[in-house]
Amino acid sequence: DDEDLGLLAGEYDDLDRPALEALPVLAIIGRPNVGKSTLVNRIIGRREAVVEDKPGVTRDRVSYPAEWAGRRFTLVDTGGWEVDVAGMDAKVAEQAEVAIDQADAVIFVVDSSVGQTDTDEQVVRLLRRSGKPIILAANKVDGPGLEADAAALWGLGLGEPVGVSALHGRGIGDLLDAAMAVLPTKSAHAIARPDGPRRVALVGRPNVGKSSLLNKVAGENRVVVDETAGTTRDPVDEIIELRGEPWLFVDTAGIRRRVHQTRGADFYASLRTQTAIERAEVAVVLVDASVPMTEQDIRVVQQVIDAGRALVIAYNKWDLMDEDRRPYLEREIDKDLVQVRWARRVNLSAKTGWHADKLVPALETALESWQRRIPTGRLNSFLGELVAAHPHPVRGGKQPRILFATQASACPPRFVIFASGFLDPQYRRFIERRLRETFGFEGTPIEISVRVRE
Ligand code: GDP
Ligand code: GDP
Repeated sequence: DDEDLGLLAGEYDDLDRPALEALPVLAIIGRPNVGKSTLVNRIIGRREAVVEDKPGVTRDRVSYPAEWAGRRFTLVDTGGWEVDVAGMDAKVAEQAEVAIDQADAVIFVVDSSVGQTDTDEQVVRLLRRSGKPIILAANKVDGPGLEADAAALWGLGLGEPVGVSALHGRGIGDLLDAAMAVLPTKSAHAIARPDGPRRVALVGRPNVGKSSLLNKVAGENRVVVDETAGTTRDPVDEIIELRGEPWLFVDTAGIRRRVHQTRGADFYASLRTQTAIERAEVAVVLVDASVPMTEQDIRVVQQVIDAGRALVIAYNKWDLMDEDRRPYLEREIDKDLVQVRWARRVNLSAKTGWHADKLVPALETALESWQRRIPTGRLNSFLGELVAAHPHPVRGGKQPRILFATQASACPPRFVIFASGFLDPQYRRFIERRLRETFGFEGTPIEISVRVRE
């Protein structure tokens, strides 16, 4: 209820801005067909991603959240991005260079049944120059008889090849152990403690209107050029004053540069999106309201959630919508976004500037939710009442009891629940829904993890 929330508001007032977490990035690179996609699927433990895709279909997701031996990291997959065969070697090197640049460590995959090629050697030179930690994976070592093929790759001069079979799951644990040993615990993208203005990323697939919105906003508001504004800031960022407050828009150079028509543009755009999201506290995902929502739109939303950033979804090009079609469209949007009902949403037009002023209030709400902290006492009395009214169903003659909960961190809010047994996924979702209803985390992803105590 409203009164409750009003009372709480005072408690989050002067919260410090914590470090912007960016998980360390592990990139998988190598020539086409060496088995990168198969390896990525192995590591993220999903079959859905890549290999089932039709050949020649360009995927647009480049990164996945992954975990090994209790460490979380971002896995960057460069497989499936090669669009045509002409000039392919140059292309491989070019994309490898971008991926290496964004990575904190690299797994370089070579097909041991083929042995080293000129392209491999070219990539090795790039890798050496980068100074990044490298693990050499000799793939397609499907059985012990093929270990000699792996050993032949010592010749690349990258140290001991780790023989694996991505297809059969052989040697994957050793490979990841080796990767974890060299992967830094902190990503180069992490920002120690954001100072100065709040940081915003404008993201979305090509042609949704990012540069139009940026130009509109920058054109109608003061752009701060004063270098003494005192902030962690790249030359590609821009500070724009909105409603009297400065806001830092990350990677505006990337938004304004028109790269759409060049080959491999999707690959670069996706990697760039990932980095922009991680450098920001809140992301505005722009969606073109004049066309049906696409998988690619959803994936960008997912990237924001995976990165744990506050989220605003802006439906652009609203000027193209007939008055009488709007209610219908609203219903469609509700359906598209059932999974992220909590996101802040604005309908606007970058072209006419209509509703552009709704952006700041949405950003503010999302950020406020993102950094909200619920005191432990309140959290436990809330859970106590909830569990008393709706106990966890009995499973196999036992009923898991919730013992205690605490909010481990903010930005985004992360909760840890201690329970006497595993909680059903449905029950976890139920708790999340009630948490949101009670404490109003509008505009932020929240995470709930359960620790089982015997
Ligand atoms: P990418 O282009 O580097 O992403 O390669 P893919 O993952 O698409 O794999 C290319 C082909 O190699 C596919 O037919 C895979 O099934 C096959 N492959 C991948 N890993 C292995 C492996 O460990 N052993 C064998 N025998 N084949 C593999
Ligand atoms: P970006 O690739 O996301 O940066 O998209 P752009 O800003 O380049 O916009 C792509 C196209 O959509 C351009 O032709 C824009 O003029 C057009 N566009 C952008 N915003 C709007 C809008 O609000 N209404 C209409 N009608 N067109 C828009």
